[in-house]
Amino acid sequence: MVSNGKGWRIGILGIYHESNTFIDQKTTRKDFEDGHLFFRAAIVEEYQHAFHEIGGMIETLRQNPVQILPLMYAEATPGGIIRTDAARYLIENLKEVLGNVGRLDGLLLAPHGAAVAENEDDFDGYWLSVVRDLFPSIPIVGTLDPHANVSQKMVDKVDAFIAYKTNPHVDQRSVGMEAAQLLLDTLNKRIKPLQKLQSSRVAISIEQQYTAEKPCLDLYALAQSLENEKGILSISILLGFPYADVAEMGSAFIVVTDNDAELAGGALHKLELFFHQNHQKFNGEKISINQALEMIPPLPKPVLLLDMGDNVGGGSPGDSTFLLHALEGIEHCKSFVCIKDPDAVKLLEQHQPGDRIWLDIGGKSDDQHGTPLTSEVKLRAIISGGFMEREPRHGGQVHFDMGRTAIVETPNDTTIMVTTLRTVPFSLQQLLHCNIKPQEYDVIVAKGVQAPIAAYAPVCPSIIRVNTQGVTTADVRQLTYRKRRRPLFPFEALNTTQE
Ligand SMILES: [Zn+2]
Repeated sequence: MVSNGKGWRIGILGIYHESNTFIDQKTTRKDFEDGHLFFRAAIVEEYQHAFHEIGGMIETLRQNPVQILPLMYAEATPGGIIRTDAARYLIENLKEVLGNVGRLDGLLLAPHGAAVAENEDDFDGYWLSVVRDLFPSIPIVGTLDPHANVSQKMVDKVDAFIAYKTNPHVDQRSVGMEAAQLLLDTLNKRIKPLQKLQSSRVAISIEQQYTAEKPCLDLYALAQSLENEKGILSISILLGFPYADVAEMGSAFIVVTDNDAELAGGALHKLELFFHQNHQKFNGEKISINQALEMIPPLPKPVLLLDMGDNVGGGSPGDSTFLLHALEGIEHCKSFVCIKDPDAVKLLEQHQPGDRIWLDIGGKSDDQHGTPLTSEVKLRAIISGGFMEREPRHGGQVHFDMGRTAIVETPNDTTIMVTTLRTVPFSLQQLLHCNIKPQEYDVIVAKGVQAPIAAYAPVCPSIIRVNTQGVTTADVRQLTYRKRRRPLFPFEALNTTQE
């Protein structure tokens, strides 16, 4: 590796998908095109100011004598496993951009870490191998979403991984900066990263993955104290993504040291020991819909109900009606719910604002997310569905697109936002840009578990995570796994007597 007068030539590349293997519908090439698919200069244009890891990478690289080579970034909304033809399309493009880039001194990668393709359970391991085969001897540093299910193969192909430390993920930009600095320090021979992965025997419930509260808070505090030790470059806690039936499913730790295997092993042991001693705390509360409805009246409003069974950011269809039916069943409770229903939007587009229309809404994707709500709704507005977010929010994206979207009101004072595309509830702009004022509601439903909190906590003084049925059920013991590692808590009891 020789730096010429213009500095190091560093590429930026990412394929980013969280794949839910329990959904029948597959993720297609169009889902990436409808999502966030950028090549070359368009990557810098989209992310340079964003609270996204690529924005952070660019910022740090720009402060150094570096030629930044943005290559490709492909992200689709979390969903079913990636279809073979879509996976092939991504790999062909990856090979093309890397084939044409010329000399590279280093690479910064942005995988999610929980991508599954039809033909490759460990799709991240696969595409990282393709990258490593093309550039066998340059340093490669990657970021990870803490919902990654990390394989040994992924770790073998990359010199160092750094995961975000927050859930909701509001530190993506600073983690991108950290990754870029680690790569520069490696290139400048200040450090020699050595990383080790330890897969845990604990899978953390999605309900307990909020990093600002216990038990995660204590785990992250331990990681922070270990990270302060001399020789440790980075510690990543992988909370894991439970909705993937793959061998890597579950929580894990990655420790990166300055070429010190023993130090890495010691830190991993301490982290896993903490996990084992506290594993019962990582199992959730599981509040039912009826319990949630009983909790609402005395709470400060609006109350945010988190629909855990229809967690769009975990890949679910976004048209579950269990909470909608429940809220329609109670009186004097002004509610807001967002439902994906392209057929209902098409029908509503034939009407004028103010019209009353009998409509079946939601519950149409499959038989796991409730039945449609039949109601004579009043059409309030039809909008194009694109909006922007400029604050640090989960996912770090700037541009969102719900497709054609209708706002309707039921006779029972429920406002329903009916969208064409599945939309993650990560931005309050989703409501504000169509003149929906959160403070006017008693209850706001967000189809997520932790991610919506960054956007909604500033306007919702009360939050209840509701254990609804669905493909992203918080009770993972309801799902059937064939490939996951065993024993794994909470599926099997953990024998902690030897520790
Ligand atoms: Zn995540």
